[in-house]
Amino acid sequence: MTVAPAVKPRPQSTLMVLRTEWPSAHMVRIIAGGPGFDSFTPRDFTDMYVKIHFPLDGVDYTEPLDVFALREHLPREQWPATRTYTIRWVDLESRELAIDFVVHGDEGLAGPWAANAKPGDRLIVSGPGAGYKPNPEADWYLFAGDDAAIPAIASSIEALPADAVGRAYLEIDGEADIQEINAPAGVQISWLLRNGQGAGTVDLLAEAVAGAPWELGRVDVFAHGEREYMKALRDVFFKQQGLERSQVSLSGYWAYGRTEDYFQAEKKEPIGQILAPA
Ligand SMILES: Cc1cc2nc3c(=O)[nH]c(=O)nc-3n(C[C@H](O)[C@H](O)[C@H](O)COP(=O)(O)OP(=O)(O)OC[C@H]3O[C@@H](n4cnc5c(N)ncnc54)[C@H](O)[C@@H]3O)c2cc1C
Repeated sequence: MTVAPAVKPRPQSTLMVLRTEWPSAHMVRIIAGGPGFDSFTPRDFTDMYVKIHFPLDGVDYTEPLDVFALREHLPREQWPATRTYTIRWVDLESRELAIDFVVHGDEGLAGPWAANAKPGDRLIVSGPGAGYKPNPEADWYLFAGDDAAIPAIASSIEALPADAVGRAYLEIDGEADIQEINAPAGVQISWLLRNGQGAGTVDLLAEAVAGAPWELGRVDVFAHGEREYMKALRDVFFKQQGLERSQVSLSGYWAYGRTEDYFQAEKKEPIGQILAPA
């Protein structure tokens, strides 16, 4: 049995599911809070994300469950599985936060868990990490993503000033997946419909962005979602439009046919890399 060395922990918050909502047909919002909310410290970014820790069936964990302390004595294969999710919003007054999960079928861990979550269920998160907020010096904003990036894009759009100008291209399955986003009047949202084709299998995003009207001035780009989608967008941003790296926040949020564990492991290999390290 190999015991892995300790890693520097991000703060853990053990939350409780308070209620669920359905912002669209394939997205469930988990609103969580409870006493564990006190240890959650939001950051000044619009793409804040957490690791959600799912205890494995059949492992006898010591309670209260400390996901970093247990790494000192349990082999890696017994650590709770992790999945990464955006914080859609935090309300410090009501001491609640919301996470929107894409419901992508029976496969996977987080999607099915969220679709069946009930008030009182435990939700263990660590973080938050973060990397983006709209650059106030930009002349206009461009957002592109699939379902998994809608929470981060929606929260970024909703943080823009009322006079902001921009475009957002959001790929979803069908009209029932269109959701309300409180966008400034100058930010135009285009919903790209897969119409029954599988997520991660179409070219809608890159085609739409490649053909998008390009405004004058400096653009600030936030594009995230399926890994191959992001590789196609990388070429649009850097080869077609000649943007600088500092103007573009671009990363894969998931990869078609891969669990998150596999997807994260592939980040170390050429197939998993979207941008060369800065
Ligand atoms: C920084 C960051 C923020 C993210 N924020 C969000 C968020 O707010 N909401 C959100 O829903 N996702 C978000 N994701 C993506 C999410 O982490 C992955 O989709 C994750 O794989 C889902 O875990 P799972 O257990 O449901 O499926 P897994 O067990 O990881 O995968 C099982 C199968 O489902 C497929 N799959 C995974 N995700 C999708 C999908 N979105 N659509 C279709 N098929 C899929 C996989 O390719 C695999 O075949 C984020 C990812 C990152 C890195």
